[in-house]
Amino acid sequence: MARKLLLAHIDVPGINTFEVYRQKGGYRAVEKALKTMSPEDVVEEVKKSGLRGRGGAGFPTGMKWGFLAKPEGVPRYLVCNGDESEPGTFKDRYLMTHIPHALVEGMIVSSYALGANTSYIYIRGEMMPQIRIVEKAIAEAKAAGFIGKNILGTGYDLEIHVQPGGGAYICGEETALLESLEGERGNPRIKPPFPAVAGLYGCPTVVNNVESIAATVPIVNDGGEEYAKIGIERSTGTKLISASGNLVRPGVYEIEMGLPMEEFIYSEEYCGGIANGKRLKAVVAGGSSVPILPTHLALKTAKGEPRLMTYESLADGGFVTGTAMGSGGFIAFDEDQCIVRNTLNYTRFYHHESCGQCSPCREGTGWMEKVLHKIEYGHGDMSDIDLLWDIQQKIDGNTICPLGDASAWPVASAIRHFRDEFEWHILHPEEAQTRNYGLVME
Ligand code: NAD
Ligand code: SF4
Repeated sequence: MARKLLLAHIDVPGINTFEVYRQKGGYRAVEKALKTMSPEDVVEEVKKSGLRGRGGAGFPTGMKWGFLAKPEGVPRYLVCNGDESEPGTFKDRYLMTHIPHALVEGMIVSSYALGANTSYIYIRGEMMPQIRIVEKAIAEAKAAGFIGKNILGTGYDLEIHVQPGGGAYICGEETALLESLEGERGNPRIKPPFPAVAGLYGCPTVVNNVESIAATVPIVNDGGEEYAKIGIERSTGTKLISASGNLVRPGVYEIEMGLPMEEFIYSEEYCGGIANGKRLKAVVAGGSSVPILPTHLALKTAKGEPRLMTYESLADGGFVTGTAMGSGGFIAFDEDQCIVRNTLNYTRFYHHESCGQCSPCREGTGWMEKVLHKIEYGHGDMSDIDLLWDIQQKIDGNTICPLGDASAWPVASAIRHFRDEFEWHILHPEEAQTRNYGLVME
């Protein structure tokens, strides 16, 4: 059985309450950090742990904390990004629903490490139940003396506020989130300056994902070196994966980094294989902002080695420059699924969610949607495939925020790995209007 750090007590009845969470050892990390460690010690442990941002970018958390500017007399903020909206990603919602005190405890420890006295948890506006659950957990922790003035008699003061999100996917981008938190329209800012230098209200701010913040609890309890022993290479610790699509057992799983993807898909401990006895056709391993991998690349690397669930291994999907581990939003497509239709679906989403600030994203996502729609419904011609390729190339790397890149990657990978499907739609216009590509191929 894989080691569980975040979900170890998930099946304990009442673990969402302060009382039960505390009985199971909860808030030990707060006691240890505030009473026996300096803020710098906590930062050091997080650096040693090798923890990387669990929201999707995989940026080293300790390094980000180390970048936090500390000008005299200027407040610093910790902002938790709970605006989880990536298609296929629902692990933060799961964590906040079932074990909210893991997040609250992580918030206290992390705020202490960063020298923040006011911290925010920005939760996606549609997640009203989770907003109430986290607010209740904060109130319980405050009543027990873990939040407020002079916590545990240590002289450290902290208030944590929950802010409902603005109802747009783009508000999950850290600078758009800060704009939204300040009461402005959620438009991403140009970086640099990074929030660590000029963030909320122009003050030094760390924005961390829900899971990253919760992970600081076992890091403080057991030490950064212990945490780093789990996983492989620069992918340390455990990772929550939200698995969906054509799987026997979709759901949220905590894996040790380095698990072979084949084991994750087929073993009884995790997804239990492809539903209805079908074959696997493709995988999106980390939420819609990462490429679609065909089965042969999803299960094995280009060298024929098992594909491991790590930031590094998933990044060699053929042409990917960033991390394909992403937010851990794992989507499996069986043999009946049409890649053109799914790509159209993603592109429609990005077009709808584009904030419209930069032309390549604003115009390009809409243009790609139109061309994909044409192909999917049997009105395309062969030059449309090259046109699509051209548009995505002109978006990638040319926008203010990663939404533009994210809209380009699924299109690029779909054309690269499934060009025959695009061609089939063009060569069989009548069938394309009425039948699904996957079923036609049966
Ligand atoms: P990024 O790589 O630009 O930045 C990562 C983090 O490191 C940021 O907090 C940034 O401020 C910090 N950083 C980077 N360089 C720095 C420097 N020199 N100094 C100080 N800080 C620095 O990526 P991002 O925009 O934060 O995230 C993009 C990712 O988000 C995508 O890859 C996607 O996987 C993911 N995503 C997740 C969701 C979700 O719902 N979980 C939604 C959309 C996108
Ligand atoms: Fe807005 Fe898209 Fe530009 Fe991001 S890339 S700032 S979402 S227009």
